[in-house]
Amino acid sequence: MRRREALATMGKASLAILAGMLPSVISNLEGAERPAMATPDRIRHYTANNPGIMTLQGTNQYVVGKENVLVIDVALSANSNMDGIIEQAEAMGAKKIEKILLTHIHSDHCGGALALRKRCGAKLGIHRSRAGYLGGEDFQYDDNDRIGFGGGELQVLHTPGHESGHCCFYEFGDRVLFSGDNILGYGTAVIRPPDGNMTDYLKSLERLLEFNISLILPGHGPLVGKPEAKIKEYIEHRMMREKQVLDALRKGRHTIGDITEMIYVGVSPALQRVAEFSVQAHLEKLMREGRVKSESGRYLLLRDN
Ligand SMILES: [Zn+2]
Repeated sequence: MRRREALATMGKASLAILAGMLPSVISNLEGAERPAMATPDRIRHYTANNPGIMTLQGTNQYVVGKENVLVIDVALSANSNMDGIIEQAEAMGAKKIEKILLTHIHSDHCGGALALRKRCGAKLGIHRSRAGYLGGEDFQYDDNDRIGFGGGELQVLHTPGHESGHCCFYEFGDRVLFSGDNILGYGTAVIRPPDGNMTDYLKSLERLLEFNISLILPGHGPLVGKPEAKIKEYIEHRMMREKQVLDALRKGRHTIGDITEMIYVGVSPALQRVAEFSVQAHLEKLMREGRVKSESGRYLLLRDN
């Protein structure tokens, strides 16, 4: 019964997410129920109709606040998508969508931002490093800025890695982190060089451990009810991959293709490029640390490590 009530407050879109979620995520839901029930009138979301291999069930677009609300990420400019967001805001008793914030500039997060701005008269914000990217922003934000909404405040956390201007937003009242593509409901984030950067990404994850987060609301996939465990799992996963890259180099694999083939056994063709980006990102991190060098497209261990 408690679960059903919690789901009811989260909107129809959540049901689609939950229906498709992995068993490991279902176990996390127990921990997530309480915070979700504590915030029914302050946070809602609408999942965009853009499902895919990278976007999972679609992009989660969040509405936060009371009366004067803000929206985090707008994936699509289609009227049906904007209607979905506005309906969520109305269901919360919102009088106005005052602001739109973007976690980052990939199109599945900002593709509908200008359209919603125009329709609602909301002020559109973007990270300082991306000022002018959409050509219609009203304000900029940077690390540690506070952004108000009806009934509370968000802290901006600049978390580069997936995208160099990526930001998470931390809501103090309920200790909720809007994680964008830094942490997903399941699976892992794509780190695609050169803008994607594994060194920065791991630093961003480490930093999130400093916050006492009770619930993560990701850009894709279901909510994460055990944030600390999830963040640690993400860090450990990357360190495991780094070890595998080093091991492959030691065993005479010297190109991104050869290393990927050894590490990502049986990866689907659709994810082959993503796997190669990941290997490249790890190699670039190791080069920055002086552990690997590159010579005409071949990667070599500098010292045994
Ligand atoms: Zn995304």
